[in-house]
Amino acid sequence: MKPEMYKGMPAVFKRKDGKFEIKILVTGGMLAPGQVKRIGEVAEKYGAEVHITVRQELSILGVPEGKLEAALNDLKEVGLAPGSAGMTFRNVVSCLGEEYCFKAAAETIGLAGEIGERFTGEKTPGPLKVGIGGCPFPCTRPQFNEIGLMGRVRPEMDLEKCTGCEKCVEVCKVGAASVVDGKAVIDYDKCVMCGRCVVNCPVGARYTAEDGYMFFVGGRGSWPPHEGWMLRDFVAREEVVPVIERILEVYREGAKPGMRLREFINSIGFEEFKRRVLSSEVEKAR
Ligand code: SF4
Ligand code: SF4
Ligand code: SF4
Repeated sequence: MKPEMYKGMPAVFKRKDGKFEIKILVTGGMLAPGQVKRIGEVAEKYGAEVHITVRQELSILGVPEGKLEAALNDLKEVGLAPGSAGMTFRNVVSCLGEEYCFKAAAETIGLAGEIGERFTGEKTPGPLKVGIGGCPFPCTRPQFNEIGLMGRVRPEMDLEKCTGCEKCVEVCKVGAASVVDGKAVIDYDKCVMCGRCVVNCPVGARYTAEDGYMFFVGGRGSWPPHEGWMLRDFVAREEVVPVIERILEVYREGAKPGMRLREFINSIGFEEFKRRVLSSEVEKAR
């Protein structure tokens, strides 16, 4: 059963209690203090509750239909709007990344903002969700989104500086770091590019040669849950938006209305999807 929408807005809809939910668009899980305050005020004013969704949106529940216009105006005053619903490019979910997290390999919040500003709200054949995690042990499960980005660092060594202290061996979770004859060695077959050895090396002998993101497509978190396919194992920050643009072109060209990205990829095969996306001008220029 489809919920009744208010004035055709898919993010403002009737719930079982006969009242309305306003699902507020939030990008990268970030809100300004004044926005948080206003959400609380609106909830209090119109007798509603606030729910944090699993995808980092904030839902104001229990708003009577007659109060919706006033509530939406109050939210608009602080730059808040309903969104992230229906057949659209949804809000971008993100962890805090390198700005705040000690374990991060890459920046996330700024990237979420950039992707959100560029794509969120655009019509897509099916709902399209994006998740970003700042490291290869991601809290946000980016692999289970239609588009998933996982921060990575390619570590390199300056053997001159290495003292053989073994701190890198201690912090490496996958056994890719070792010390042989007093000098550190990286086993790139095992290395998942988390960058923890880089940030923990006391003398800067390990350094970041390159950072970027592992790029997943076609993941789904519902039933049955599916991990996405790995489109590319390393995408530089400046390539992310052009690759998303190309994915959307391929998806819109080939998918029937309502088709989720995963179904579309299955309908043509992942290798064919990858060929179409990566044979674009953007990729040729690499
Ligand atoms: S995904 Fe990684 S970088 Fe992001 S918050 Fe979790 S541990 Fe930190
Ligand atoms: S932590 Fe740095 S100095 Fe210590 S062994 Fe590893 S690379 Fe060498
Ligand atoms: S970057 Fe590679 S070698 Fe360094 S800690 Fe992470 S997995 Fe280990």
